[in-house]
Amino acid sequence: MSAARICRACGAGPVALRGKKTGTFLRREFEFHACAACGFMHVEPFSGFAIYDDAYYRGAGPDPYVDYAAEYHDWRATDRGLEFTDLARVAEHYFRPSAAAAPLRLLDFGCGAGGFLKFLRARSSLSGRPLDLTGHDVGSYAEMLRARDGFRILDFVALAREPDASYDLISLIEVIEHLPEPLEVLQIVARLLRPGGLLLLTTGNLESPAARRAGLAYRYCAPEIHVSLFNPRALAALYRRAGLAPHRVRYEGAVRFKVLKTLRHRPAFRALARAALLFPPMVRLIDRRYGVSAMPCAVKPALKA
Ligand SMILES: [Zn+2]
Repeated sequence: MSAARICRACGAGPVALRGKKTGTFLRREFEFHACAACGFMHVEPFSGFAIYDDAYYRGAGPDPYVDYAAEYHDWRATDRGLEFTDLARVAEHYFRPSAAAAPLRLLDFGCGAGGFLKFLRARSSLSGRPLDLTGHDVGSYAEMLRARDGFRILDFVALAREPDASYDLISLIEVIEHLPEPLEVLQIVARLLRPGGLLLLTTGNLESPAARRAGLAYRYCAPEIHVSLFNPRALAALYRRAGLAPHRVRYEGAVRFKVLKTLRHRPAFRALARAALLFPPMVRLIDRRYGVSAMPCAVKPALKA
């Protein structure tokens, strides 16, 4: 077993070819390699980050559900508010209101079009604490969020200069599946979180009933962009390697958002789905089918006294 055959999530293995799939955007063949120990899959070859251009941002790239322009212009007009509200609820449940009311320092890692930062700025507090917001990303939207909207947006170099334990809360929303070296990112997150801090991470579950049935035909297996594919075990193993501890949450609005997002180009179905999703049993059914709440978040263990 060569070094390249070590699993990028759990660090064990062996890793073996699971199958091949032709991209829908780049018409070439990609290989999916799976770990026998944890089920994590990575894609080869990696298409690089140049694929994230302006066409990608408007949904004309490998992901037809992306719409940075709409989110940047007004996140309230998109369905993302459902997801943002849900993530804020999860964070509020974790952070007890504190009498000191020290600012809660938040880093949105991979802040994209900035919807979550704007949502939080409009909210202004979490658990009774004022929010001190920072984003991390690169590209044209990161530049606009910095120059036009006045957010503190850090590039890779600036992020590396941030002191240890700078943040109470770090969000990594649908980011990690795009990165070929997930451990490196989680190590940065673990360094930047204060002991007792929370990581809110969302990514697809490749061992959900829906994913198992579809196999590599599963829509989330988009090899041009989704190069690190997790399941709950693999994600928990990656957290532990980075010095974090898995933290179970139950999503509601994030589940609703995931459904509505895929109906972006089908307004009639979207209206129907929006009505059906008002019923909690429907949300729980979809949650189980796609394994959304089965994917843990993480906390950085508090220092022992
Ligand atoms: Zn593994």
